[in-house]
Amino acid sequence: MLIFILAVFACIVAHEFGHVLVARAFGVTTPDITLYPFGGVARLNTIPQEPVQEFLIAIAGPAVNIVIMAGLLMLAGATLTASALSHEQADLASRLATTNLVLAVFNLIPAFPMDGGRVLRAALSTRFGFEHATSLAATVGHWIALALAVIGLFVNPMLIVIAVFILFAATAELQATSVRAFSKDLPAERAMITEFATLPAAATIADAVQKFLHTSQKVIPIIAESGSVAGVLEIGDVVRALHAQQDESRPVADIMYSEIPTLSSRAKLDQAFRLLQEKAVPAVAIVDDDARLAGLVTLETLGEMLLLHDVSASVFDGMRSHSRQEGGVRPIERRQDARHVASTR
Ligand SMILES: [Zn+2]
Repeated sequence: MLIFILAVFACIVAHEFGHVLVARAFGVTTPDITLYPFGGVARLNTIPQEPVQEFLIAIAGPAVNIVIMAGLLMLAGATLTASALSHEQADLASRLATTNLVLAVFNLIPAFPMDGGRVLRAALSTRFGFEHATSLAATVGHWIALALAVIGLFVNPMLIVIAVFILFAATAELQATSVRAFSKDLPAERAMITEFATLPAAATIADAVQKFLHTSQKVIPIIAESGSVAGVLEIGDVVRALHAQQDESRPVADIMYSEIPTLSSRAKLDQAFRLLQEKAVPAVAIVDDDARLAGLVTLETLGEMLLLHDVSASVFDGMRSHSRQEGGVRPIERRQDARHVASTR
């Protein structure tokens, strides 16, 4: 039994490596793989918007299982039987071959984040465009999740768990796509947070405690003497420092997060969101031409955008046309922003 479980695990890992290797061939990196009882999900850093690429990355996993199955059938004399799944008496090769077939078929169920959902979106993308294809594929995913849950009630409660998982994943995929779509041509400076308190790099942990108490901010940018962004401080950093009984007179520079990505105020909002996601940082700093902090984009910005977008997509159209009329960023406006930041210190 143990050998069988280990062998199935190896097949699931091989399946994920199918995705990873094909993704890598297209230059898409995969920071981690999460294994679930029914398979795994390789997280793609960027979702390839080229339908053919997404199709090939998605199909690579199940293809690995089919290849393993074919190998077992041809080389190890395995046979495919339904009883091989439950029957411990069946030979190992047959049980493995059948399990691989089940893995391939199961993962091809057209629901996110199953591979089939991605194959479906890739197919729909060629006709309807990426965004519409995602919403169609997510809708299909929702219905399949519902069907799985109902079947699960009578057959196997595990299916209900999978259904809930699919439901959440389909919704997340849909949101991610709509965020990408509406932030693609929105200037970051239109949506960034511009009213916030900052602290100089020389400020102490005690200063930071006061600042967190007197503002509702969860992230405080730390400004170097030159006026550039030195890093950001999260309330969690302060809590950890105090918990570790660090001296409250130590400078915040010792405990801040210093590898904060910066973007020009002319950058688009989706670039900021991508950095937030890929680098897993608390904030992205938007800076003006003099490298002075003009604003911040945080996960809260993202949440607010989603809320506003659900209420009225026209809000964003207004932001876009506004920026077009102005013909980009005006230096005077940026200066004012910088001074405003400085005055809130
Ligand atoms: Zn897969």
